[in-house]
Amino acid sequence: MLRQRPCLAALILSCLPATGAGAAVPTPESHFGHPIGADRQLLDWDRVVSYFYALTRSSDKIQVTEYGRTAENRPLIVATIATPETLRNLDRYREIQRRLADPRITSPAQAEAMFKEGKNIILMTCSIHADEVASTHSAVEFAYRLITETNPRFQTILDNTILLLVPSLNTDGVDIVTRWYRSTLDTKFEGTNPPEIWQKYIGHDNNRDWYIFSQPETRATISQVHNVWHPEIVYDVHQQGGYASRMFIPPWLDPAEPNIDPILLQEMNAVGTSMAADLTAAGKPGIAIHAAYDFWSPSRHYQAFHGGLRILTESASARLATPLAVTPDQIDENALGYKPQEKSWNYLEPWLGGVWKLRDIIDYQEVAFESLLHNAAVNREDMLRKFYRVGQHQVERASLSTAQPMAAIVIPKDQRDPGATRRMLQTLAFGAVEIMQDRGGDYVIPMRQPYSGYAKALLEPQHYPNLLLYPNGPPQRPYDVTAHTLPLLFGVDVKFSGQDVTEELHKADLAEPTETRDFYKAADTDGWKAINTAWATGKPVWRNEAGDFAIGRQQAAGWHEVRRPRIGLYRSFMADIDEGWTRWLFEQFGFAYTTLRNADFESGNAQAGNLRARFDSIVFADEQPNAIENGHPPGTMPDEFTGGLGTRGADALRDFARAGGTLVFLNRASEYAIGKLGINAKNVVANVPAQEFYSPGSLLNVKLDLRDPLTQGLPESIAIWSEASPVWSSEESVAKYTENGVLASGWLLGEKRIAGKTALIHARYGAGHVVLFGMRPQYRAQSYLTFKLFFNALLLN
Ligand SMILES: [Zn+2]
Repeated sequence: MLRQRPCLAALILSCLPATGAGAAVPTPESHFGHPIGADRQLLDWDRVVSYFYALTRSSDKIQVTEYGRTAENRPLIVATIATPETLRNLDRYREIQRRLADPRITSPAQAEAMFKEGKNIILMTCSIHADEVASTHSAVEFAYRLITETNPRFQTILDNTILLLVPSLNTDGVDIVTRWYRSTLDTKFEGTNPPEIWQKYIGHDNNRDWYIFSQPETRATISQVHNVWHPEIVYDVHQQGGYASRMFIPPWLDPAEPNIDPILLQEMNAVGTSMAADLTAAGKPGIAIHAAYDFWSPSRHYQAFHGGLRILTESASARLATPLAVTPDQIDENALGYKPQEKSWNYLEPWLGGVWKLRDIIDYQEVAFESLLHNAAVNREDMLRKFYRVGQHQVERASLSTAQPMAAIVIPKDQRDPGATRRMLQTLAFGAVEIMQDRGGDYVIPMRQPYSGYAKALLEPQHYPNLLLYPNGPPQRPYDVTAHTLPLLFGVDVKFSGQDVTEELHKADLAEPTETRDFYKAADTDGWKAINTAWATGKPVWRNEAGDFAIGRQQAAGWHEVRRPRIGLYRSFMADIDEGWTRWLFEQFGFAYTTLRNADFESGNAQAGNLRARFDSIVFADEQPNAIENGHPPGTMPDEFTGGLGTRGADALRDFARAGGTLVFLNRASEYAIGKLGINAKNVVANVPAQEFYSPGSLLNVKLDLRDPLTQGLPESIAIWSEASPVWSSEESVAKYTENGVLASGWLLGEKRIAGKTALIHARYGAGHVVLFGMRPQYRAQSYLTFKLFFNALLLN
């Protein structure tokens, strides 16, 4: 259920169904003080919120609900727009959706009546990427128009649909970008992006979170909107670069994730193409379909695994709200799927330059909004029918072209890592997967349930097709990563069964354990949070040769006390998303850390030069070596945000390690250490063309050297995350790629180049340590298995 906003006296009307008896509906201009989309004007989130509440006080066609809070405690709101009659009966329409979403509880005859009665539920989500500023503006203006303009198309929309309009999925980001933009107006930095990530922990990666659900924005939207309303369509409004098409609309490029129902893919093709036709009819050139974006990673395709269409549009960007002038020779020549300078079937009216403004983006988006909503409205009954049919496919496991029918997925109860196992199952359950238990306690996911394809997609290995741009040419770049196999990422054993489960099952209990233990096996992810809690409360922590932990009293001989590591985490001004993921991980597992900026490494700083007195470990998240060393070049950003560690920073790091500190570098940052600290290793895939080596977000098999303390709690054979990852020849290897069969999930070209080579280095450096990860061991909050490699590195001294 949606949570109602607490009633404040001043807002009391907003909590009630709108009466329509209020004053005239306020125009956006009267509220914001400028026309929507005016050059060099961006919106503040609190003003957007107050505008939507103002609409509810003067119109009976809109309700507004605060459905959650962000990482920085701003409200997330959804505006529900329909006829007053529909709004009075929302409970009934929600119930119809719930019933149609699950054919096990709704017979075809019952469904037939619901196709007639139900409304089409359309969720539109704006500005998840906060630098893609336009769609929050479009949401404001379109909401006003939809409830005030009387025309037959809008009436058809209101009569047949329930529009759930989320004006921003990242409301912290709205303010981060708006404030930065205003601070740079009339300077030469006007139109640049902020020197910080625009969501507290994961920045632009917030559209990669929609099956792991790590962030509060994701969790609130899934639990309070998606899983309550089961929308037929989720339209996610984005922007792309400014130098190619004016707007991308589906059809998607190949490949599509194989568990997505072909009905949905056909409907996405149809709805997208219809939007493109409406934009062309409205005189909007530069529309590309079947271009640039594939449909593989479930990271933002939640709804396509839950019975609904996912529509994405990507509008060309201006420079935030500053117009962008594009000359014909600046048109990008290298778009995927079409040539931006030439007419083709999927790019019929090339846009060949001109001045492109925020207002232009909004104009295109509002045509797209209306087109999608009108199409859905006139096809209401048919879309509901197909929505139900998709659920039937899942439950029947029919029309799902797998050679071997799968009847159940079994997760045995006895696992090396009980904490990670429970976390993986909780994550699936949050995504509306029904998880059962048999009498022996094993977990069972029967495939005869509405979202079985979703569970299957996340639990099976991915086989990404070998897509080349032309025969013997370079690989066609996937839109995102190619692997998302949770059992490999979490280190959990899973069995796929062709047999229907006949024994009686009960709903699994996935609650967090309430009792606190004082002993943890090295393999159990749960232990890490517990030991950090112990440290925070002043209790001693002990570890034995096997890496197990004991809290409190020393156990027996063979145990040594482990001190809480004092961690420094480097943060550049390059808005490094991986640094944010690292912070998120530290906070989830209770590690105390201090953010280190460039100034902490300068000799003029009183504390610099004595990093070892302050820290035991210093961590560099995945970032280009040049970004660490040099940061933004002078003149490209205000002075206080330029520069990097420079020569003095490298000196300080060498002193730190020689004096006994541990330096930990993740993925690309490792190359900084090789260059600046003189670690003896050579990256064998540096400058190798993609035809010869390519691992675009894949899971690869390695063997660990179990004698090294980094590997405590891990088995010898694991899969690690690989994307733009260095691979070394090194004498100090802790993990080596297997000699053959390197690919565990995803896509890999050039296996031979890395077979037997190194993915993890542990080098002694003076009295200290340098650890180089040729991977992101904390990958997007989901690589639980390799979290332990990372945590062990923090405890080396
Ligand atoms: Zn985007």
